Amino acid sequence: MSVRYISTRGKAEPMGFEDAMLTGLAHDGGLYVPETWPQVSRDELRQLRGKPYVDIAEYIMRPFVGDAFDDQTLRGILERAYGNFKHELVCPLVQIDPNHWVMELFHGPTLAFKDVAMQVLGLMYDNVLARRGQRATLIGATSGDTGSAAIEAVRHCEHVNIFIMHPHNRTSEVQRRQMTTVDEPNVHNIAIEGTFDDCQNLLKAMFNDRDFRDEVSMSGVNSINWARVMPQVVYYFASALALGGPDREITFSVPTGNFGDVYAGYVALKMGLPIKRLIVASNMNDILTRALTHGDHSLTTVHPTMSPSMDIQISSNFERLLFDVYDRDGDKISDLMLQLKEDGKFQIDEQQVARIAEHFTPQCVNEEQTLAVIKDLHARTGYVVDPHTAVGVGAADRELPADPGTPMVTLATAHPAKFPDAVAKATGTRPPLPPHMADLYDREERFEVLPADVERIQGHVRATLG
Ligand SMILES: *Cc1c(COP(=O)(O)O)cnc(C)c1O
Repeated sequence: MSVRYISTRGKAEPMGFEDAMLTGLAHDGGLYVPETWPQVSRDELRQLRGKPYVDIAEYIMRPFVGDAFDDQTLRGILERAYGNFKHELVCPLVQIDPNHWVMELFHGPTLAFKDVAMQVLGLMYDNVLARRGQRATLIGATSGDTGSAAIEAVRHCEHVNIFIMHPHNRTSEVQRRQMTTVDEPNVHNIAIEGTFDDCQNLLKAMFNDRDFRDEVSMSGVNSINWARVMPQVVYYFASALALGGPDREITFSVPTGNFGDVYAGYVALKMGLPIKRLIVASNMNDILTRALTHGDHSLTTVHPTMSPSMDIQISSNFERLLFDVYDRDGDKISDLMLQLKEDGKFQIDEQQVARIAEHFTPQCVNEEQTLAVIKDLHARTGYVVDPHTAVGVGAADRELPADPGTPMVTLATAHPAKFPDAVAKATGTRPPLPPHMADLYDREERFEVLPADVERIQGHVRATLG
């Protein structure tokens, strides 16, 4: 069976995996979702128990990928992608309470969970471009994590050049160095004299310049690409199987920003994995908590927090869930998104709020509580979590007492050494970088500083490509 992809706004042609991956955002402005959910039976799941991560990944992704890759190519991509992880189990579980585990998703090259999907996407992309005899120029804007994950994903890709814009002097040093110390001829960092918003506006302006886009074969790397959601579905299966699934339900607590990661959990549920609840853990940027509690999806200003990768105003992947709870009515979704654009808000109807509540529980964890979680967990067990993971653990701790018999898995989305200041504030100790990165502060940096001027950036991209 091979899945086709349709747009959440209902006005774009259905397409296969390869085209959906290369297109990213649908032409009607919507997001691609599978037309049908491939089903995995309990017997099939029992067969997967105890298998290596790559085997589970291959089994779960196979129907989504369809004829874009043959079995051998898909296997090769997954072996290479997860061979780059520093832990043999890829996404290992660590127990922190009698019925509470943390799933470490940060053993990839940039120490954050985005590697789990990006490493696969980079190789798939390169494979397809090679087959088509094409080259692509990826251009992205980052406030930190996405940029380094994208660079690490394509640094060895022969058919891709990548340009990443970050706001000059406004990322953490670890984040900047993870991008600027990558010494490859196809990797180009640009420090923009401005804010992250300026970087995003420059990116938008370049995307809207059709001539430029065609001239350099420009493409994006953002989190709305279906091919970035798909590999994340796998670790819900892998962890559930390790803890007694499918013969036992599991609850997951997911630190959430753009809703991509927790949506992947919903996909696993739709495919037949027994999941009791998905906890949507937010920091004080609480638009999702309000939306899930009483349907109030209204924008406010973004508050900077210790967990910056969750400092969002709009969770772009939430549209995929809305599409389902509104019975896949693309016109309705287009309507809501237009209201959001024009009025900065929309209201989710009561019936739909109730349908979301069948599976999702919102929890919002503030700054003080986040620090307390890091401190308390460290004191009780010696285990250190980063502030994003701490938001997830804090949310899980509130839900556990009401349902102590269901295993709880909190997703650990970043290595503590990636956010050393917050961790030091809570525990008194700066977490060291893992051995393979210990020399990060000594490596030579390469980046170009440019003003926030779209013509200057475009000139730089053209000149660099030659
Ligand atoms: C991106 C990110 C998140 C949020 O993930 P979404 O898929 O956007 O919800 C959480 N934690 C870290 C460390 C991240 O980099």
